[in-house]
Amino acid sequence: MIPNTGSYRLANARLHASLTPEFGAAFDRDGFGLADIAVADGKISSITAHGRSKAPADAIDLAGRIVLPCFIDCHTHIDKGHIWPRKPNPDGTFMGALNATGADRAARWSAEDVARRMDFSLRSAYAHGTRALRTHLDSVAPQEEISWPVFETMRETWRGRIELQGACLLGIEGVRDRRWFDSLAKRVAAAKGVLGVVTYMVPDLEELLDHVFAQAIQHGLDLDFHADETDDVAAISLKKIAEAALWSGFEGNILVGHCCSLARQPDLDVLDTLDKVAKAGLAVVSLPMCNLYLQDRRGDHTTPRWRGVTLLHEMKARGIPVAVASDNTRDPFYAYGDLDMLEVYRMATRILHFDHPVADWPQAVAATPARVMRLDGFGTLAAGGDADFILFKGRSWTELLSRPESDRIVVRGGRAIDRQLPDYAELDELMVE
Ligand SMILES: [Zn+2]
Repeated sequence: MIPNTGSYRLANARLHASLTPEFGAAFDRDGFGLADIAVADGKISSITAHGRSKAPADAIDLAGRIVLPCFIDCHTHIDKGHIWPRKPNPDGTFMGALNATGADRAARWSAEDVARRMDFSLRSAYAHGTRALRTHLDSVAPQEEISWPVFETMRETWRGRIELQGACLLGIEGVRDRRWFDSLAKRVAAAKGVLGVVTYMVPDLEELLDHVFAQAIQHGLDLDFHADETDDVAAISLKKIAEAALWSGFEGNILVGHCCSLARQPDLDVLDTLDKVAKAGLAVVSLPMCNLYLQDRRGDHTTPRWRGVTLLHEMKARGIPVAVASDNTRDPFYAYGDLDMLEVYRMATRILHFDHPVADWPQAVAATPARVMRLDGFGTLAAGGDADFILFKGRSWTELLSRPESDRIVVRGGRAIDRQLPDYAELDELMVE
């Protein structure tokens, strides 16, 4: 359908207002407008309202199919991905995930093991239409010395197909060993990575956060936290991060993931936290599939009674940038998943109510994470931008989100890519117990 010449005209494409700067079309109440898109030399040369001028006879008529910019996945763990067959979660709980992953890491995460699983993950993400991806990298000693060089090689290998970012990952108590943590921060800076930690309610949390911010300022690093991935109402590390950001005068980007406990807290506490999060300029990413899997798992023969996700609507209403992302794939933290951001958006629509109205929620998988990741020109469709987009069969939200859209066409640099997914059997030899 898409000519391999890299120069053509698409007529009658359905674009979403929130991901397309004004091009003169009338948008309907779902935010859609019909457009003609001209592509030349791998770039979008123009986007015009459909019907404004007569499309040339050789234009490809998309008959109202939805076209979205390629996805931006701002929170993943491709160093953990696909270990499930050799290390499943024994009971589906968060502690079960933590312990299983820790044991697998210590025993199995050689450079080759990590590299092959990472590459598998990136091929899946690419085939589904993802253009940029941030992964956390378990950086508990001695894993940081194995995984960061693998990440740096992988980033080079994938440049031009997937823009790869890395953030270190360790429990906040790891910051107590100042010498080790400072050397990790230096290593992350050398790799042009992002400084990340997991926060929970340790007695010295404020002091440790101060040190994390001081290191980020010293090395000019952006920050990325896992915060409050629990139903414990006493978990308020999101608020502590916002306070630390305010009093340190930090000017970089801060992304905070999960924030599950916020949804369980009394309204007045929530309002106070959200005020601080907005004032401090934090962005928040929700991981709906992982939260649904791990949260509210109470033991045998019980049914979960909450969805596990944080308060994205209330955050967005306050101007806090909000995103959704994949998180884990086929590892003890999440038994499923394939780094398909359409699946994430579909699940988010159902779990988080990204509808009635859809409004600008599509930005949560494209334009917003692109801004948080400092990726100029990513996550939107605009004249002069790269011709990196996805052509779906669906012509409305209900059509788009009701089927897997396995036959979507992913266009990169103006050309349709080969969307072959890697075969699970490739990893079999790494899965022998
Ligand atoms: Zn995560």
